Amino acid sequence: MSVQLRAPNAQGDAARVRFAPSPTGFFHVGSARTALYNWLVARQGGGTFLLRIEDSDADRGNAAWVQGILDALQWLGLDWDEGPVFQSERTARYAEAASGLASAGYAYWCQCTREEIDARAKAAGRPPGYDGYCRERGLDRGPGRILRFATPKTGETVVSDRIRGTVSFANADIEDFVLLRSNGSPLFLLCNAVDDADQGITEVIRGEDHLSNTPKYQLLWAALGAGRLPSFAHLPMLVNERRQKLSKRRDPVALEDYRQKGFLPEAMVNYLALLGWGPEDGNEVLSLEELVARFSIERVNHSPAYFDTKKLSHFNGVWIRSQPVERFAEVARPFLEAEPWFATGFDEEAFARIAPLVQSRVSVLGEIPGMVSFLFVDRVDYEAASWAKLQADPVGKEVLLAAAEVFGAEDFLADHKWIPEELERAARQMAEQLGLSLRKAQAPIRLALTGRSVGPPLFESIAILGRERSLARIAGALEQLAIPHG
Ligand code: GLU
Repeated sequence: MSVQLRAPNAQGDAARVRFAPSPTGFFHVGSARTALYNWLVARQGGGTFLLRIEDSDADRGNAAWVQGILDALQWLGLDWDEGPVFQSERTARYAEAASGLASAGYAYWCQCTREEIDARAKAAGRPPGYDGYCRERGLDRGPGRILRFATPKTGETVVSDRIRGTVSFANADIEDFVLLRSNGSPLFLLCNAVDDADQGITEVIRGEDHLSNTPKYQLLWAALGAGRLPSFAHLPMLVNERRQKLSKRRDPVALEDYRQKGFLPEAMVNYLALLGWGPEDGNEVLSLEELVARFSIERVNHSPAYFDTKKLSHFNGVWIRSQPVERFAEVARPFLEAEPWFATGFDEEAFARIAPLVQSRVSVLGEIPGMVSFLFVDRVDYEAASWAKLQADPVGKEVLLAAAEVFGAEDFLADHKWIPEELERAARQMAEQLGLSLRKAQAPIRLALTGRSVGPPLFESIAILGRERSLARIAGALEQLAIPHG
């Protein structure tokens, strides 16, 4: 007889981990963290990262959600070594495992309806739940019958969790859970345990919401005769600023939304890694590669992790600033292309000049178009509040009149003069003459040229916008303010 053994490597058995999402909706940031932690564990020890799509519940599964999972993992840079394995393609295997459990006496057929179960619980004054009514009836498989697992009624099942320590569950409290529905389709617990067994999973790393499933999983595992149990690590739940569990309805949890707003995958994985774990040296800005080197599942905290979108934005800003400007231009591109002016007024060279100034000032890529659009449109729309302020501000109007004169001076006709340093020098002089700080003098000019009150450095912006357009915009603003000029 030949016995198959997994080949041990130098560090002992390499980990076989899996990410096992159910394709029931948008890919959640919590799922992304689970995927990341599994991937890190696999990459740390020459292990295997398997992707399994838990779509046994076929009506809820949806091809678009599956594609969303694959795209998200690819975007994050979490490549898988095996799979995707689809549970919907393994129905025969679950049926076979279920039959084995039934014939070995670990499971029994039950024909109680939900109403009967509830009525008995109510009459006996028990909390709702199955009472084992069919357990000793010896029913055969038949129409309308479901298969239940016969949980032991005494003793306890102890889960040894790498994050939460030892958690004990009294067997008497574990319901005879369902393995097969009356139509023969398998349920989550059966598929989950059978797959982990068949796929040789050595470490289960998943959300805390699954902790209560784990004693059932362990009982099933033993009944399946599946051999050495995997280790378990249940990751802390993610909460919002009010310490409420992140919810699809209330909180921004779809990874895709972050991608669309302009978060970089580097920032996303970096921030996700910190949701429950932190590096010993406190240096929190870490690439995937550095995370592989530093991450430790044993050091994951069990208390809820606050998903702080402000901190995520901060990380994103850090990551954006650390990119070579060519990469910045590349990741900015789709955001520029989505603008109405892209087809008509975009100018590659002007963008290349402004890009480094913008790169240091945005925390999400979605902010880029607003900062650069003044270069690519024929006329700017003024921010309403700033415009109203200018209308009521005689000093601001005076600045604009002076700016029209100063920047319109012959001096600036030569191209080599229309440069940030010269423009700033002239503006400084003008501000002095008006008895204003340079900052105060910049505001109305910025508004006239860009329509906004904040943006990239003003004199660089004027230089890139060019003499003709800059003067035309100042003139246009004066006209709208009904100030005679020129
Ligand atoms: N399919 C389960 C979920 O999406 C995960 C099960 C597991 O990781 O064991 O929550």
